[in-house]
Amino acid sequence: MYRSHTNGELRIENINNEVTLAGWIQKTRELGAMTFADLRDRYGITQLVFGEELLQVAKELGREDVVQVKGKVIERESKNKKIPTGEIEIEVTELTVLNKSKTPPFTIEDETDGGEELRMQYRYLDLRRKPLQDALKLRHRLSIEVRKYLDSIDFFEIETPYLIKSTPEGARDFVVPSRMNPTQFYALPQSPQTFKQLLMVSGYDRYYQIVRCFRDEDLRADRQPEFTQIDCEMAFVDQEDVLNTFEGMVTHLFKTVKNIELTDFPRMDYAQAMEQYGSDKPDIRFGMTFNYINEVAQNKGFQIFDDAESVIAIVAEDCSTYTRKELDKLVDFVKRPQVGAKGLIYAKYNEDGTFKSSVDKFYNQDDLKAWADKCGAKPGDLILVLSGDKATTQNQMNTLRLHLGDELGLRNPNEYAPLWVYDFPLLEWDEDTARYHAMHHPFTSPKKEDMHLLDTKPGEVRANAYDLVLNGTEIGGGSIRIHDKETQALMFKHLGFTEEEAKAQFGFLMNAFEYGAPPHGGIALGFDRLCALFGGQETIRDFIAFPKNNSGRDVMIDSPSAISDEQLDELNIDIKAVEAQ
Ligand code: ASP
Repeated sequence: MYRSHTNGELRIENINNEVTLAGWIQKTRELGAMTFADLRDRYGITQLVFGEELLQVAKELGREDVVQVKGKVIERESKNKKIPTGEIEIEVTELTVLNKSKTPPFTIEDETDGGEELRMQYRYLDLRRKPLQDALKLRHRLSIEVRKYLDSIDFFEIETPYLIKSTPEGARDFVVPSRMNPTQFYALPQSPQTFKQLLMVSGYDRYYQIVRCFRDEDLRADRQPEFTQIDCEMAFVDQEDVLNTFEGMVTHLFKTVKNIELTDFPRMDYAQAMEQYGSDKPDIRFGMTFNYINEVAQNKGFQIFDDAESVIAIVAEDCSTYTRKELDKLVDFVKRPQVGAKGLIYAKYNEDGTFKSSVDKFYNQDDLKAWADKCGAKPGDLILVLSGDKATTQNQMNTLRLHLGDELGLRNPNEYAPLWVYDFPLLEWDEDTARYHAMHHPFTSPKKEDMHLLDTKPGEVRANAYDLVLNGTEIGGGSIRIHDKETQALMFKHLGFTEEEAKAQFGFLMNAFEYGAPPHGGIALGFDRLCALFGGQETIRDFIAFPKNNSGRDVMIDSPSAISDEQLDELNIDIKAVEAQ
């Protein structure tokens, strides 16, 4: 028996017990004729105390040595209230060093001195730290509760293949050469989309999978080339059924994992989200919604507003006392290239009912009162205005709104505000390729009542597509699918596929639709992001045991890497020819 207890287990009740513990030496300190050591495992830390007989061996202990100790539990003289084992210590009678450790490259403590890159290189050491252990524990808890909930309502967990065929879902595929089929390639799934739909055709009417997905996208901060989804599909459902089911799941997760009762699960259509928040994933923890003030702001001689398609105002409550410097900072913020506004107009609605604006030359007190009335501003508030073409201005105002929300402390990390956004556009115009792309994916069904616009105004057709948003972050998305061959063929046509291309790529799916495909729909939730949100962290990396760095590299195993000439030959890849191109 290596240990009788873990290092997080012993309490004052265990006084005088003879115990055996094992773990890692976190640190040692000498105090007169005694040596103390902190023994750590994933359950906690227990203090060891070595008397005179063991002093010599104890002195030689190094950080991260793996040891086994036998001894007696005694009450500590100076108690440590911060840890659960802080009232006791082990009077060691026997010490066995199971394995010596080299001095680790950084301290294995809650606050470490190791830089990001170094910790990634020694991820197995970083993972010994409590914050990371807590993150992985939370991930485990969430995955268990997802399974419990879905199992309780008859979902089957079914695995789908990782070696598949390219499906155009917006991102680039990772491809895998096939040794047995020279010049041919598998693709790693961007999601199990077509497989889960085929499972519906097969009659497994409630499917889920906590599944790895792969997308070879350009790297952005906090994107991982492989990531995990809670992928789900249901048959004989309409949109309402799917939303209710997954509202239930998210509510269950909050209740069981965080003991938080989510009471409100509002829904908003895409058009309203864009109009009021300039975003398809609004953070509704705070107001500051958009006001379109064209009517009261135009035709007063201020050219910039007069030329604008939209003049949009938001109200920062109780901010009329902003100083010149604070206002300049906001102006600088919107002028940054990432936001791209030309300028920012403000109007202070002073406590005494007067106005002071940056455009006093063009607007008198009555004019500014009209702005305030239009926006529902009250004395003491600050009105901020951006203008230009509608879509761009909405986008810029969204960024400003979120920035102000942060500055004013309105985005409380301990408050959780979920939201469904639905009725997304079916298609999205892509400037680069000068054609429409599916906004969600090509299997998403158009809304019946919009079908007649498909030929004339394709950009206005709405889809039976929805996103689950939490605190301004999209955590999931899905749709009711097309389930008949004709509509699917029509969709491919609108996406610019020839009949032959559609058949070559998706013939299997369209054929399946001819054998009694039931109406179906589903959703996928980003599991890594969900974990980060539950853990109150911005980045997903700590919630993945072995993540890639920001350049998509695993610096610990040093991947991607070159492969041998023999392997290349076997795979029929002539890298010299590729290099020569
Ligand atoms: N396969 C979709 C995605 O990965 C989700 C879905 O439509 O169910 O975004």
